[in-house]
Amino acid sequence: MRFSRILIPTTKETPNDATLASHIYLIRGGFIQSVGGSGLYNFLPLGKKVLDKVRAIVKDELDKAGCQEVSLSFVTPAALWQESGRFEKYGKELLRFKDRKNNDFILGPTHEEMMVNLVRQTVKSYKQLPLNLYQINLKFRDEIRPRFGLMRGREFLMKDGYSFHSSVEDMKREFDLMEETYKKIFTRLGLKFRVVEADSGAIGGSGSKEFMVLADSGEDTIVVCDNCEYAANVEAAVRKEKVCEAEAPEAVFAKFHTPDTKTIEALSKFFHVDPYYLVKTVAKKALYDEGKSEVVLFALRGSDELQIVKACNAVNANDLVDITEDELANAGLIAGYMGPTVVPEGLKVVFDTNLKDASSMICGANEEDHHLIGNSFVGVEADYHDLVAVQEGDLCSCCGEPMRYTKGIEAGHIFQLGTQYSEPLGANFLDENGKAQPMVMGTYGIGVSRLLAAIIEQNHDDKGCIWTKESAPFDLQIIISNIKDEDQVALGEKLYALMLEKGVDVLLDERKDRFGAKMKDYELLGVPHAVVIGKKLSDGLVEFVTRDGMVKQETSVDAIENILLKRF
Ligand code: ATP
Ligand code: MG
Repeated sequence: MRFSRILIPTTKETPNDATLASHIYLIRGGFIQSVGGSGLYNFLPLGKKVLDKVRAIVKDELDKAGCQEVSLSFVTPAALWQESGRFEKYGKELLRFKDRKNNDFILGPTHEEMMVNLVRQTVKSYKQLPLNLYQINLKFRDEIRPRFGLMRGREFLMKDGYSFHSSVEDMKREFDLMEETYKKIFTRLGLKFRVVEADSGAIGGSGSKEFMVLADSGEDTIVVCDNCEYAANVEAAVRKEKVCEAEAPEAVFAKFHTPDTKTIEALSKFFHVDPYYLVKTVAKKALYDEGKSEVVLFALRGSDELQIVKACNAVNANDLVDITEDELANAGLIAGYMGPTVVPEGLKVVFDTNLKDASSMICGANEEDHHLIGNSFVGVEADYHDLVAVQEGDLCSCCGEPMRYTKGIEAGHIFQLGTQYSEPLGANFLDENGKAQPMVMGTYGIGVSRLLAAIIEQNHDDKGCIWTKESAPFDLQIIISNIKDEDQVALGEKLYALMLEKGVDVLLDERKDRFGAKMKDYELLGVPHAVVIGKKLSDGLVEFVTRDGMVKQETSVDAIENILLKRF
């Protein structure tokens, strides 16, 4: 393509809401255009080209794995979501609206219901299973804080796949196949990534994995072990049980006057004991369906931090939010002196599993200026759950080595669903004995438009984008520095024609602009390689440039053809 003929509106101006490199460069490079700064974007020719390349790789690998592409209606009748129970449950991210006949509709943020509806009408027998159907289509989520450009849009492109099986084992086989397929996709895209154990909601278990593109700007914290394969989202990470070297505060059970000791730190100083032997009691407000809510106390060791997603799953809530002082007082709780053992009647308390059989513990007395010492939980029946946020340095549950944190961008998520949707929606099949059974499902997502941002977060410098080979908008850019120089133009046109003939996706910069401006655009757009035809052509020399590192290799005009033919 000729640069002068395509719409690539590059600009020096950084959008004022942009902080991430990918957001800045995708806008400045004229890949995308913001629509009123509200998490909505137009894809311009270059952005569309990259998006299509990424999409093609996703499709190619999925098709090879036996998945079948469909395209579902973006506008979804609310009735389907009422059947599954999600119409009420899904928060404000779900855009609900009515048509002229006053019927309720939604814009699909995900398409489980729609796909189950498709399958329940068409699949009746075990002979038609398994089935893996996917689409690469728009999603709409009315995100509370759309930000970071394509990273967290409101309207975005997702590959969403759903598989249907006659048994749990077969679904697990497909889940593993999808993990392998996703690995192929991210590897082909040239990304550094990790597959991590992910939060599976209230269902729990290891039925969910995320594909994290490693980048410092990632919103997700991942816990990784460098000694073995273990990696998990901090929301789901587990550790080897912690032990404490410090001496336990042996004491008989008693109430103790502890003025001004409202924090774990103050309490630890007051009693001269390790926080390991203190109980941290955290109050949260849990939100449920139909506007219901309740105050819940979460108790864990003072040396540990509460992991909010784990806590939320433990009480099966839709969300956990901070509690106000008034709400705390209304629940009969004393801030700074709460404890899990002395609680107002009916108040829900969840204990961290590390407190099971703990003894010599100190906890709040739920009375101003008082704590209880010598508490033992040995043999105490209670609601125990893993509530702990794994910290850096905690030991790996698989190999015992210390783990560390790293940051990632969630680019894909695969999930063993089971019959969560097929049961309420009545997606049944007849098994070999003619008995009706709910189909067992898996669900698999990739953030296709988010991938553009992820690629650039991982691959950029202070000048612009550095696209990976398979994602690049062009394979090669040929830059004629001065189009008034006939020799430069002649060589540029010759190489351009040669490359086109060889099927190389090449961009010829034959614009009237200054050379400096053209090079700035080259750096900003991030095409992996360029041939720069400049002043030195009179000495028979041109430059072959590699965008990654801006490595320039001066070469003779005679040699350049061979270099190009060899590389492409
Ligand atoms: P996140 O935790 O980042 O909000 P999610 O877990 O809600 O994402 P899923 O429901 O798992 O997202 O959706 C599948 C994929 O879609 C994600 O792995 C992610 O790559 C992509 N995705 C989700 N939300 C957005 C968004 N607002 N903008 C762009 N891509 C998104
Ligand atoms: Mg997810």
